[in-house]
Amino acid sequence: MEIIHVSAECYPVAKAGGLGDVVGAMPKYQNKLGHIAKVVMPMYKTKFLSDNSWDVVHKGRTNIGDYWFDYTIIKEQTNKLGFDLYLVDINGLLDREKVYGYDDDIQRFTGFQVAVVDWMSVWEHHPDIIHVHDHHTGFIPFMIKHCYKYQHLQNIPTVLTIHNAQYQGAMGWEMSYLLPPWDSWKYGMLDWNNNINPLASAIKCAWKVTTVSKSYLEEMKQSANGLEALFEYEKGKCVGILNGIDFHVWDPATDTYIEDHFTVPDVKEGKQKSKRLLCERFNLDEEKPLIVFIGRLVGEKGADILPGAISDSFYYVGRKMSFLILGSGFPEVEDQLNGLQRLSQNDYSVYIGYNEALSHLMYAGADFLLMPSRVEPCGLNQMYAMRYGTIPMVRRTGGLRDTVVDYGEKDGYGIVYNWAAVGDITQGVWRAVDLFEDQEKVGAIRKQMMQLDFSWEHSVQQYLDLYESLLPLPPLEETGEKDGKLHDG
Ligand code: ADP
Repeated sequence: MEIIHVSAECYPVAKAGGLGDVVGAMPKYQNKLGHIAKVVMPMYKTKFLSDNSWDVVHKGRTNIGDYWFDYTIIKEQTNKLGFDLYLVDINGLLDREKVYGYDDDIQRFTGFQVAVVDWMSVWEHHPDIIHVHDHHTGFIPFMIKHCYKYQHLQNIPTVLTIHNAQYQGAMGWEMSYLLPPWDSWKYGMLDWNNNINPLASAIKCAWKVTTVSKSYLEEMKQSANGLEALFEYEKGKCVGILNGIDFHVWDPATDTYIEDHFTVPDVKEGKQKSKRLLCERFNLDEEKPLIVFIGRLVGEKGADILPGAISDSFYYVGRKMSFLILGSGFPEVEDQLNGLQRLSQNDYSVYIGYNEALSHLMYAGADFLLMPSRVEPCGLNQMYAMRYGTIPMVRRTGGLRDTVVDYGEKDGYGIVYNWAAVGDITQGVWRAVDLFEDQEKVGAIRKQMMQLDFSWEHSVQQYLDLYESLLPLPPLEETGEKDGKLHDG
């Protein structure tokens, strides 16, 4: 099968979160199984762009509303990522440093999608599947069904994967002029709550919809930032497939971001060395259990309750552990977390910002990883942590529920609590401190977790089965049915 992934992010080209990790890994594993998976994404101004060589494969001209633009499709020359990577260059619109966060993001991502479909519409052959990811690519299933210019593509099955339904890209109907001329009888396929909603549109128009864990799909029927009824209505075509993690990038035995590599037999010594580096750098007491948080400092991740939970833990559990936080997000949360440094007794530090290398060192050197998420579609951090022998402390939600079993349960290995609340986290911290005193048990849990299989192989097969179910049946000649051979026995 030939699969085209269209995405706003793809690691290592450009990543803002889990979407980038997934799109950087899934196609690689699909190719390993003998398929042809390619990625198309915007050409941002990234280091990856300047460090690599590119071929121009297509030049075109199209428009969003009355803004006409030339676009160029370039392809990375060496296939170094394990899949063909195409970037869409639209001068002035996409070639910027950040992925998101500009006032004209609506125009940027609409322009990107129009250019992608425009380019595909002149291909001599058609891909078997178009796989779009999140709302930034959510107009594509609509466009190939209902925009007159592109309707000859409408027989190509489309799959939408929802990595995060909190963000939907909604815009007022006055923006409808951005789309290429479309069948206005189909306005309902764009509309949700009197707005154009690209995510809702993709849920309605894609042939299949996947979410990145089974529990998240169930939860969205109850709570999906306004789309609950749509998920309930479309549940027949929705399926939850847990993300995998890229075992080549996230491997404590070879990780290029850490100095002290380790495997299952020497996990204790290996982790200790990385912990020492962290503790020296952030002035933390190496003897205490180290609890870390890595992620966006937003409400979804429960980051706003971290300051209260850390203070309460020191107060109620005692200064028996250290905390190290890496992230950026809401300025108030950043300020509160920075403010806590004044109270540190070699047991608290924070790094505000995005730092890929530091995140790897933290997965390697921490004893526990805290994830008090309010919403967690899949969550990759807990899987990375476990691969590095770091015990996850997670709220029972979404993908966290599907991947972490409390150590109090049979064959369990993590710390699981019910609510994103200061009290629940503090109790989790108390349990972590208690568990850490039993080093034999910690050692056994680490070894058990490192051998859990969260690889992409599993999940990729589920995606392939899903694609397969959308392909036309082979012609009768190939099955022998035409001659009645099968029926005649
Ligand atoms: P999200 O909802 O942010 O996509 P995921 O758990 O799916 O959450 O993925 C988060 C990814 O982003 C992980 O690879 C994590 O290590 C990384 N990450 C998040 N914040 C930071 C940061 N401040 N520095 C480095 N990596 C980060």
